[in-house]
Amino acid sequence: MANTAIVGINWGDEGKGRMVDLLTGDFDIVVRYQGGGNAGHTVINEYGKFALHLLPSGIFRKGVVNILGNGVALDPENLWIEIENITSKGVPITPENLKISDRASVLLPWHRELDGLEEARLADKKFGSTKQGIAPFYSDKYQKKTILAGELLYPEHVKEHLKDLMEWKNLTLTSVYGAKAVTMEELEHWLDTWCEKIKPFICDTGMILRNAQAEEKNILFEAQLGALRDLDYGIHPYTTSSNAIAAYAPVGSGLPSAKIDEVIGVVKAYSTCVGEGPFVCEMFGDEADTLREAGGEYGAKTGRPRRVGPLDIVATRYGVQVQGATDIALTKLDVLSCMEKIPVCTRYLVDGRETDEFPFPALLEKAQPVIQYMDGWNCDISGVRSWEELPPAARRYVEFIEQQIGCHIGYVSVGPERDSIIIR
Ligand code: GDP
Repeated sequence: MANTAIVGINWGDEGKGRMVDLLTGDFDIVVRYQGGGNAGHTVINEYGKFALHLLPSGIFRKGVVNILGNGVALDPENLWIEIENITSKGVPITPENLKISDRASVLLPWHRELDGLEEARLADKKFGSTKQGIAPFYSDKYQKKTILAGELLYPEHVKEHLKDLMEWKNLTLTSVYGAKAVTMEELEHWLDTWCEKIKPFICDTGMILRNAQAEEKNILFEAQLGALRDLDYGIHPYTTSSNAIAAYAPVGSGLPSAKIDEVIGVVKAYSTCVGEGPFVCEMFGDEADTLREAGGEYGAKTGRPRRVGPLDIVATRYGVQVQGATDIALTKLDVLSCMEKIPVCTRYLVDGRETDEFPFPALLEKAQPVIQYMDGWNCDISGVRSWEELPPAARRYVEFIEQQIGCHIGYVSVGPERDSIIIR
């Protein structure tokens, strides 16, 4: 499998965690290369059901080394809570199978607070932030106003550095937002309570990856969110604050010289979107409620009901292009068994003209979906394990999408469990 990236093609929540969990058996290393604890991968396996936020999904596989790369938003508090939660269910997490890049920037206590303060200021113009501090974190990272995980290994140095950052950040907290200033005692408490716990995992992961590459080991690059939430290529400004696309994987993982051989794009058999922003194919009313219930579409991190709609060919084709996908995993096909006729958004209508092209973000608000209906299969397919066994209408649905998006669909998922998969 060489170097493979597993990425989301749409708005996120496509089922990437489930695909990483399935495929990690073929890999030596799984590395998360961007994002923070603001979304969640749901994984169901022999240990139980888990919502992973920051940990790579290879954490459940024996012998797999999991890396949090320099591109992630490293939140020591959330990470430690996640580690404790998972180890309490019998999954071993040690410095042997989890390694944190010493070059990962650290999400500081005020980042989460700033997210909340800014959403409150925006009131009804808010972006639907998950308030995990991701946007303030990445802004500060690019201003070089945060610390690197490796600095935690040098206690005196890190305190000095944090003191400077605190003095700078207090200007914003107190003068701009009228909030309380952060104190050095609070920061020392944070260092002692959370950062101490994650210190044993911090090391030079770049070296580990370079050695793995030299030994021709198989490396899996795991993304959070999807192409449409990518900072540069997504539905600006309703994006995340980092690059979720596969092209960023070498940079954010710590192996900038890596060539990604395969990009597996994960697409859900229908659309979902969490939070604010344009969602052209959105369905409402009973039809939407039925689909949301059938698919259990509630946020893994926030529990928020997800907005739902039919598969959006225009957005998906765009996602395939920006990801450079070489193969597609289509998930949740089983959920569509509840529909007699299956709607698909094949084109957009913008200013009275139909288009196949995904529009410039500012035009998305006025785009309308052009819907085509396909025959449903009206039977339970969750036990199907081979392409031939799938009802003809389900095969026609998959082939139609494949032809429309211009990329081979190599995996069709028909259930959340590890083995509920059809490999074509
Ligand atoms: P991710 O962030 O891309 O990993 O996606 P999420 O974890 O937010 O959402 C995927 C959800 O769908 C999880 O609850 C999975 O257990 C579930 N899931 C994944 N694949 C399938 C499938 O093929 N069928 C069904 N019914 N559920 C699935």
